[in-house]
Amino acid sequence: MLEKSPSVRILQAPNDEFHIPVRPEIARLAPYIPGESSQEFSKRTGFPLEALLKLNCNESPYGPVAAFQRQLQNYTFYQQYPDTQSYQLKTALAAYTGVHEHAIVLGHGSMELITLLWSLFLSPGDEIISCPPTFSLYATAAALCGAQLVSVRRRADYEIDTRAILASLNPSTKMIVVCSPNNPTGNLLAQEDLLTLLDTGRIVVVDEAYIEFSTRPAGYAHLVGRYENLVVLRSFSKWAGLAGLRIGYGLFPEWIASYLRRMQNPFEVNVLGHIAVIETLAHLEEAMEKVQRVIEERGRLYRMLAQQPFLDPIPSQGNFVLARILTEQVALPQIRKAVEADGILLRYFPNLLDGQDFLRVTVGLPEHTARLRSALAHVGLPSAECLTSNSLHWRFLEEFLCDLNSWAT
Ligand SMILES: *Cc1c(COP(=O)(O)O)cnc(C)c1O
Repeated sequence: MLEKSPSVRILQAPNDEFHIPVRPEIARLAPYIPGESSQEFSKRTGFPLEALLKLNCNESPYGPVAAFQRQLQNYTFYQQYPDTQSYQLKTALAAYTGVHEHAIVLGHGSMELITLLWSLFLSPGDEIISCPPTFSLYATAAALCGAQLVSVRRRADYEIDTRAILASLNPSTKMIVVCSPNNPTGNLLAQEDLLTLLDTGRIVVVDEAYIEFSTRPAGYAHLVGRYENLVVLRSFSKWAGLAGLRIGYGLFPEWIASYLRRMQNPFEVNVLGHIAVIETLAHLEEAMEKVQRVIEERGRLYRMLAQQPFLDPIPSQGNFVLARILTEQVALPQIRKAVEADGILLRYFPNLLDGQDFLRVTVGLPEHTARLRSALAHVGLPSAECLTSNSLHWRFLEEFLCDLNSWAT
C-alpha cells in the first residue's frame, strides 16, 4: 500500500537512511496537554457541539466588550502589518497597570511570554523552581530549554512553602515561578512570601492571569521596576473574554523587556488583538461589570459544590473552583461519567495532591451552575452509573440495581 510508494517514504518520519537527530531535550519532551476543546469532546462523546457546556478552560461566559464587535465591522486595514510599537495599546495598558510603556511587552497570549522568558534565562542544566499543584506549562517550557524544573510542593493549606524553596536553591537556580491566584488552587501569593523570593536574587515570575477576579486586582504591578528581578505576567484571555485572540502581556524590569523584544518575532499580536485590547480598556467599566458577575457566581458555584456530599471545594480568587473528591463516597470516573453524560466539560486532576483526586470547574452563568447541579445529582445513582463505591455490599446492591435497570430498558 502506501509504504511501497517511494514519494511517500521520503515524506515519512526520519528513518535509518536519513536521520538528522532533533535536540535531545525536545526528543524527550512530553507534550503540554491543554483542556479538551468543544470539538474534541463532541467527537469523543457524540454530544452535539451546540449543546455542550464548556467549564474546563477558565474561559469567560460573557465574551469581550460590545464595542469590539462594532470596531471589527469598521476595520479595513487587514492588508497592513500591525503597529510595531503598539503605541495606542501600550499607552492604554500603561494607564491600566500604572507601569511605564517601556516595561510592557505584549505576547501572543501570556504563554508565548512564558516560553520566551524561560529561554532567555534557562540553559541546559539550569534550574527553575515551581510550586505544584500549578500550571503545567511552566514545566513544558523548562523541558524545552533542557532545564530542570524543581518542584517544591505547596503546603497543606495550598500556600507556597518558602522555607522549602530557600532550602532547594543552588547555584544553578535561575528562576522561581508562582501563579497568583494559583491555577488550580485559587489562592493568592502573600506579599511577605513574594518579598522573601525576591531576596534570593533569582528571577521571580508572578503569573497573574486571574488577578482581576481577586480581592487584589492590581496585583504586584506596583513592585515591578522597584525590583530588578520581578516579572509579572498578565493575560486578556480570562477576564476580558479574549482567549481565542491570544493576547497577553508582561510587566518587566526594562533590562529584561529589551532582551525579550529582541528575541520575539515581530507582529506577534495581530491587529484584531490590538483592537480588542484597546476597546476593552476604553470600556473598562463594562468589562469589570462582567468580572463582578463572575465573582458573584463563583460564590454560588462554591456553595453548590459544597452541598455535594462527595466534594470538598476550596475557596477561590480566580474564575474557577477546585474541589477535592471525597473518594470514600464516589470515585472520579463516576462523577466524570455523570457530568459528561450531560454534555458538561470539567477539568479532572487525578492524584493532584497527596494521592487525592480533584476536579476544577470554571465559573459560568447562573444557569450553568444550575445545569451542573442537576448533572451532579445523578452521580452515584445506579441508573447513571454501574461503577460502584469501594464498599463491597454497596457494589453488590448496585450491580443488582444495574441489572434491574438493564432489564427495564
Ligand atoms: C490561562 C492561563 C494563562 C493565560 O494564557 P494566555 O496565553 O494568555 O491565554 C497563563 N497562566 C495561567 C496560569 C493560566 O491559567
